[in-house]
Amino acid sequence: MNDKHYQERPDAELMRQWRHELHQNPEIGFELPRTSAMVAKLLEGWGYEVTKGLAETGVVGRMSFGDPAKGPVIGMRADMDALPITEATGLPYASTTPGAMHACGHDGHTAMLLGGAELMARRAAAGELVGNGTVVLIFQPAEEVGGSDSGAQRMIKEGLFEKFPCDAVFGIHNGPTEEEGHMHFRPGAFMCSSDTVTLRFKGSASHGATPHLARDAALAMSATVLALHSIVSRNLNPLDTGILSIGKLSSGTVFNVIPGEAELVLAVRALRPEVAARIHERIAEVTHAQAAAYGCTAEIETDYGYPSVFNDPAVTNLAIATARRLFGEEVVEPEAEPVTASEDFAFYGLSRPSAFFILGNGVSGHRDGKPIGHVSVHNPHYDFNDKILPLGAEYWAGLAEDAFQQGALK
Ligand SMILES: [Zn+2]
Ligand SMILES: [Zn+2]
Repeated sequence: MNDKHYQERPDAELMRQWRHELHQNPEIGFELPRTSAMVAKLLEGWGYEVTKGLAETGVVGRMSFGDPAKGPVIGMRADMDALPITEATGLPYASTTPGAMHACGHDGHTAMLLGGAELMARRAAAGELVGNGTVVLIFQPAEEVGGSDSGAQRMIKEGLFEKFPCDAVFGIHNGPTEEEGHMHFRPGAFMCSSDTVTLRFKGSASHGATPHLARDAALAMSATVLALHSIVSRNLNPLDTGILSIGKLSSGTVFNVIPGEAELVLAVRALRPEVAARIHERIAEVTHAQAAAYGCTAEIETDYGYPSVFNDPAVTNLAIATARRLFGEEVVEPEAEPVTASEDFAFYGLSRPSAFFILGNGVSGHRDGKPIGHVSVHNPHYDFNDKILPLGAEYWAGLAEDAFQQGALK
């Protein structure tokens, strides 16, 4: 089915060219001058009203159809940023910038939404796109940066939804393990939140020969490592999803000094905000108690990153219906497993009813230009699959048509 789709669409080749152009010239974080200029120019060429400069290099394209007052305003989001990774696919269109690579498929997300934009404009001009409403195409930078200042957060802070009051926002991520062209949806909690916690232990140092004169911060840290691992197993409901991973332990300088300071850095993830809150509460109790037990003190610093992605059920059901209509029941999974990774799409969901879902990428790994089976995103061998580009474009246009014709979501 996907081969057929690919061959039948005259614009599939065009989308492939945009994707390769983006892939060859990856840009990172908020600094996407080349990428955003390309997106803005294409949108303007198709008659979109284009706003530049939100979150530095974010681009928003708006177009209305029929009588917009009678229909919904539908937000569609693509992320445009690459990762600080050196590419190892060996593909002819591999990154020409060492240390920068589209290893999460955001080149494909951008090309698919551009393809959808072109298709909607073309169908409207031919009188084929009937119904009332407005599309707001949100091309954002800096999804991959993590923490409390990412592209979505900055665009919202700089007035995205005041300038473009969307009734609903949709986002697609390519799926590295899902079959080519399959679509996976999940109403409700879908992706985990992600926070970083730093624990600093203070005791007092001493000569290694006189432990009775020390308050050993390394020992307090070590006891805390073990105690922290009881939180998920003993303080969470086993049916809830929560993760506590200790990524960095540091203390000491030399063999004959007992350290007076030590530091742990942890990642906390959870599918629901209440679960994340419970983990943070227990981290504080466990850390202070362990530090005190070894005569030390502890300071806790928490950087709240991306919240969990929550898919509004009504919005997600509309997205599922469009996928079934366009591609058939057999490639649509309406109750997919939740995902433990995080996404800054979550911030759109805090402001507007939203739905985030997966379009299967199929075989994604390449070495020396040849397929090597599945690899995960953020892997130097990852590549977005060109064959799903026309599916994505078709999907975006179909979603707008369904929302406009049903007058849904307004
Ligand atoms: Zn990523
Ligand atoms: Zn991504």
